[in-house]
Amino acid sequence: QSLDKGLEKTKTSFFTKLSKAVAGKSRVDDDVLDNLEEVLVTSDVGVETTLKIIERIEKRVAEDKYMGTDELNQILREEIAGLLSETHTGEGTDFELPGDKKPYVIMVVGVNGVGKTTTIGKLAHQFKNKGFSVVLGAADTFRAAAIDQLQVWADRVEVPIVKQKMGSDPASVAFDTLSAAKSKNADVVLVDTAGRLHNKVNLMNELSKVKRVMQKVIPDAPHEVLLVLDGSTGQNAFEQARQFTKATEVSSLAVTKLDGTAKGGVVIGISDQFQIPVKYIGVGERVEDLQVFNKYEFVDSFFS
Ligand code: GDP
Repeated sequence: QSLDKGLEKTKTSFFTKLSKAVAGKSRVDDDVLDNLEEVLVTSDVGVETTLKIIERIEKRVAEDKYMGTDELNQILREEIAGLLSETHTGEGTDFELPGDKKPYVIMVVGVNGVGKTTTIGKLAHQFKNKGFSVVLGAADTFRAAAIDQLQVWADRVEVPIVKQKMGSDPASVAFDTLSAAKSKNADVVLVDTAGRLHNKVNLMNELSKVKRVMQKVIPDAPHEVLLVLDGSTGQNAFEQARQFTKATEVSSLAVTKLDGTAKGGVVIGISDQFQIPVKYIGVGERVEDLQVFNKYEFVDSFFS
């Protein structure tokens, strides 16, 4: 699925609102800016990031004295790409791994239902396609279904999986996974973790224990903590990002389900607000429907 198609709903809704915001106006004035603010907030860009964008446009209007509404698209595009650059988000075009860490350990976190397992399966597929050897670890031992689903993906993509029975210690599964990956000389390890948010202290303790035990096998693991967020939940995704960044050090984001939603603006708001790069976006249920996030493509598909 191409990104244009994946973001179709967001784009249509954004442009409908944007054209209403400037209807009958030839210049960007306070009214237009007020309307634009509403467009951005209702596109799930988030209040803080919206205000930042509006302020920047106000500044440009003040400097230029006159800004036609026909220039607004271009200016918005520049400002949004600029914001995404500030979080070092999305230069990538391909599934790559830093060559100096082997195995490269990715701990995947996120609430149940956001598409965590699917994202792990899609990533395993992409890495394998690129010739990397992959090992999966089923450290979400809280739900039997989580282990089973990861097994389904391991079978589908044909990569090894390390698991124990439901209820076993997640840290022990992580330990076994990294040990197995190390002895196999694997290139990349994807470790699934439990995503229960109801008790923040528990979540924090569990994730820190998993990390600590990983470090007994590979001292600088995990090399990446990837938080998976469901883009279609809009403001909930912001809340989850808030909770998880408090519980552990998140280094990258995957935003899923952008195909079924008009809330694609969350990608902009979340990377800006949390200053964490968006690395992957999910634009469908098929194994190919995970893309390396590229800010230029993203902003272009939003605006063209
Ligand atoms: P988990 O509980 O977080 O592991 O969630 P799952 O990986 O089981 O995904 C939950 C549902 O979301 C499944 O039906 C997936 O097929 C679906 N899903 C995951 N990613 C995407 C996506 O990018 N687009 C769409 N449309 N569905 C997705």
